[in-house]
Amino acid sequence: MDFGLRDRVAIVAAASSGIGFAAARELAREGARVFLCSRDEERSKAAAYKIHQETGAEVVGIRADVTSDKDAARFVRLAEESAGRVDILVTNAGGSPASTFAETTLEMYRKAFELNALSAIRLAQLVVPAMRERRWGRIVNITSISVKQPINGLLLSNTIRAGLTGWAKTLSTEVAADGITVNSVAPGYTLTERQDELAEVRGRASGKTKEEMIEIWASEIPMRRLANAEEIAASVAFLASERASYITGVTLLVDGGWVRSLY
Ligand code: NAD
Repeated sequence: MDFGLRDRVAIVAAASSGIGFAAARELAREGARVFLCSRDEERSKAAAYKIHQETGAEVVGIRADVTSDKDAARFVRLAEESAGRVDILVTNAGGSPASTFAETTLEMYRKAFELNALSAIRLAQLVVPAMRERRWGRIVNITSISVKQPINGLLLSNTIRAGLTGWAKTLSTEVAADGITVNSVAPGYTLTERQDELAEVRGRASGKTKEEMIEIWASEIPMRRLANAEEIAASVAFLASERASYITGVTLLVDGGWVRSLY
């Protein structure tokens, strides 16, 4: 299937590693021009270079913290000035810490809202007006399976990402007639740097090795294995593509069957 992404201009947030990196690479493989960011200039540049070497696509990496208004504006401006427009926005960020209700302070909720909701909303505010004028646009948010089935101990993710999903659905209806689609990809357990560290930390806390922790997670997944980041990225590229033109307002679970609900 030709995704029709050749020469489309994509910005991918939080993409020096993990799912964001894989999404940027998948879009580049499909021929898009890609701008990516992370909080670290060197790591962003290295990620962009790696993708460029592998795909031959034009890829630019810069330092931008997605919780900063100024950085987000600079990121979008760079893409608009260098490539003339932004066709595709992939929103992503790091994860919020694990906590229970008793442990979670109001400040933690505020921070999580900044990291996992406002980061996406502010980037959308920056790109949607011009997408509307050109009558074409794709927004794909990386969220989590927690939007369909809350995960024990991940109170902040369960709370904030559900809110962002409501926002995305609302935005999708407001901009649908302008040729813009807004969708989310909800990854299940995915083997990234972060997940590897998490397995180490959670394992240590419960007297298990990292490998045992990963096995426990895998045992809860009908496919009996974690995803790799490329499997998540393929869905991001599809939803960003021309071929997904009649899909909007959805959350696509990419979870090996982890979520048990029908909807
Ligand atoms: P990761 O730690 O491997 O990668 C996160 C990327 O985001 C890195 O490039 C990091 O530099 C960048 N980043 C973090 N905070 C940033 C900020 N404020 N501004 C700019 N860049 C920032 O993580 P991942 O596993 O790829 O996860 C990506 C997202 O998907 C997270 O929100 C995570 O909670 C969510 N998620 C992950 C999994 C999983 O199993 N890996 C499952 C469900 C949801």
